[in-house]
Amino acid sequence: MSATIIDGKAFAAKVREQVATHVARLKDEHGITPGLAVVLVGEDPASEVYVRNKGKQTLEVGMNSFEHKLPADTSEADLLALIDQLNADPAVHGILVQLPLPGHLNSDLVINAIDPAKDVDGFHISNVGLLGTGQKCMVPCTPLGCLMMLREQHGKLSGLNAVVVGRSNIVGKPMAQLLLGDSCTVTIAHSRTKDLAEVCRRADILVAAVGRPEMIPGDWVKPGATVIDVGINRIPAPEKGEGKHRLVGDVEFASAAEVAGAITPVPGGVGPMTIACLLANTVTACCRANGLPEPEGLTA
Ligand code: NDP
Repeated sequence: MSATIIDGKAFAAKVREQVATHVARLKDEHGITPGLAVVLVGEDPASEVYVRNKGKQTLEVGMNSFEHKLPADTSEADLLALIDQLNADPAVHGILVQLPLPGHLNSDLVINAIDPAKDVDGFHISNVGLLGTGQKCMVPCTPLGCLMMLREQHGKLSGLNAVVVGRSNIVGKPMAQLLLGDSCTVTIAHSRTKDLAEVCRRADILVAAVGRPEMIPGDWVKPGATVIDVGINRIPAPEKGEGKHRLVGDVEFASAAEVAGAITPVPGGVGPMTIACLLANTVTACCRANGLPEPEGLTA
């Protein structure tokens, strides 16, 4: 293996430490404690784990965590009323509605009801527009984490060829906007892209956000490229015992690591950065709400 392994776990710990330092300063110097409200509707087990982890890490960095667990049959009117209440609450600086929502709720309507200044997921249409026009906004957490790792790896990204595989609203598109903002030459690939292998081979920076286990083999990777694997896929792992699973990314790690200059593993790459960036966005939102300087290096 020749690639440097980008340790997302260690990087995320560093981001959380920076957040904690800033939170302590906000408390000591201004008497303000940043607060993150997380809203979970229904009992999806994966969502419950995410929400628990978010709450735990929020408290660990010294912020207030407000959890709102609502039954699966909650009406849209009741959910919107809760969001109104959180929008108006000065102790709440960030609001996150855990997705996916049960089928009877309109996610777009709900997300767009959040005050854009408190939209720490960066999914509100105003933040999407601000990001697209290169203005100050709340940046979606997963792409923000990828950008931080790329900047750490490369210093300046200007002029590099970046290929983002995947065009979802939560990962692919905002990732491409951020790379464009850092003056990369950006290609967005998707399921209709012709000769994806050739497109990938041109990438100095290759971001895979597809959701297909080990779809990108090493011979699609340009020698020396930096590979950011966003994919999280559970595949059967009979070698670990009957019915067991393991996590893999969208990139075939072993063969890609032979050619890449640097690569994120799965697990332990992009994943841990997502919650760290959620905490970073919350402290940023708190500073903006109070007209205070933002922490350096924690925003795009
Ligand atoms: P989506 O399913 O919303 O989007 C997948 C994208 O991949 C689509 O744009 C789709 O193209 C494209 N695609 C699908 N098949 C192919 C193919 N054969 N060739 C090229 N492109 C293809 O997924 P998300 O963006 O939400 O998530 C992507 C992955 O990242 C998932 O594994 C998810 O679990 C993971 N993830 C990880 C996070 C983390 O914290 N690390 C956070 C968020 C997601 P088209 O638009 O044409 O259909």
